[in-house]
Amino acid sequence: MSRPVRVRIAPSPTGTVHLGLCRTALFNWAFARGHEGTFVLRIEDTDAGRSTQESLDAILEGLRWLGLDWDEGPDIGGPHVPYMQSERVDGHRATAQKLLEMGVAYRDFSTPEQLDAWRAEQEARKQMVAYRGEDRDLDAAESQRRADAGEEFALRFRIPDGETSFTDLVRGDVTFPNAEIDDWVLVRRGGGNPTYNFVVVCDDIDMQISHVLRGEEHLTNTPKQILLYSVLGLEAPDFGHLPLMLGKDRKKLSKRTGDTSLGDYRANGYPKAAILNFLALQGWALDGETEVFSMEQLVQNFEATDVSKAGAVFDMDKFGWLAGEYLRQESPAELVEHTAPFVIEAGLLTADQIADRRAWFERVVVSVQERLNLYADLPAWIGHFFVADDAVVYDPKAEKGARKRDRRVELLEAYAGWLKERGSIGDALELGEATKAWVQEHDAKIPDLFQPLRCALTGQPGGPDLFQTLDLLGFEASLARIAAGARRLA
Ligand code: GLU
Repeated sequence: MSRPVRVRIAPSPTGTVHLGLCRTALFNWAFARGHEGTFVLRIEDTDAGRSTQESLDAILEGLRWLGLDWDEGPDIGGPHVPYMQSERVDGHRATAQKLLEMGVAYRDFSTPEQLDAWRAEQEARKQMVAYRGEDRDLDAAESQRRADAGEEFALRFRIPDGETSFTDLVRGDVTFPNAEIDDWVLVRRGGGNPTYNFVVVCDDIDMQISHVLRGEEHLTNTPKQILLYSVLGLEAPDFGHLPLMLGKDRKKLSKRTGDTSLGDYRANGYPKAAILNFLALQGWALDGETEVFSMEQLVQNFEATDVSKAGAVFDMDKFGWLAGEYLRQESPAELVEHTAPFVIEAGLLTADQIADRRAWFERVVVSVQERLNLYADLPAWIGHFFVADDAVVYDPKAEKGARKRDRRVELLEAYAGWLKERGSIGDALELGEATKAWVQEHDAKIPDLFQPLRCALTGQPGGPDLFQTLDLLGFEASLARIAAGARRLA
């Protein structure tokens, strides 16, 4: 296909920023960027009862935060303004009128009660057939007369006989017998709103959309939409339906099996690059092997035809692992920037205190970098730095390990004396070596000192290098903690 690549996402601003939307946005964005295309953001806000400004703001902010920049959209305009669907309704109504005049749509005067009765009858027969309105063959003049007389009607699409086939970029050839497709509603009864299936086509036509990549839940909408292009004599876009994102229970991802909104993952401290990488893996793979890849690699390699049609299982363990992979690649400055909000939120330091003690804070953060998966993991590792020296909280496992060492009190006291004589912590590396020699001289094993010492200093069963910790705590605090440990572990 030679037409220029123009793709879009068309979210409805009716809630939080769902990860499904983020993945759809990512794939459309990558496809556009990799094919010199245009990525359009259109907002489907015609459901006035459910659309909110707050949700719209969250979508714009969330996508921008992810770095999925769009070329045309409600905030930046473009050659096909407006990009808010609610502002395009006049055009939709004009197209509806045209479809009626062409005879491909008809007024259905059935009342809601009649429709209910029809549905009940279908259910009783246990044999659903597609809806064909009784008025579909009404004489045009009669139809007009009844409308003029004020009778309410829905405008329905007259589904032709035959079948509708298309080649889905993801799923391959797909065929729907038209006999299974309702004469669907274009414009709701009583001059109500045009429907999604109708206006999405109007807008995609107006915006010259070439490819529609969207969630699989829309697959059954596609034949309806294709038939509309067909009666208008227009080439339909290429469609690609992205596999459902499934929870571990292999049901559609929902709040039950994990967080579904982007905000939750941000609040839990997942690195942005990990979120993007993980979303890309929900239906796509670089080479079937490499799991950690950049957005540049995605853009260079993404083809909709490579997307898998099998449901993508959302593996939280893998997400956590991926988060750690990215977090550990960060520079000290990046790590400080990204973790600071979590440290502030945990009440460990204020922003000003972080600024005042920046060099120290950076070293603290880097000391545990290897042990973090999420930014939000940091406060638990470093919380001990911010408690009184005689009130370090001993993790039960750390304390149990320390108490197993029979010579714990004697060694802690002697070590404190030796440190005091040294007069300073000095170089952490050198202190570590000297300490090991000291342990040998005292006929002890390394864990005899190290386990009680770690418990006294941090209260944690494991953690970063002990001598780095001593260095970060400082001479006085270290001595105070060791003394308190000797008392508390007696
Ligand atoms: N508002 C629809 C959705 O968010 C758009 C679907 C489409 O891309 O056609 O699911």
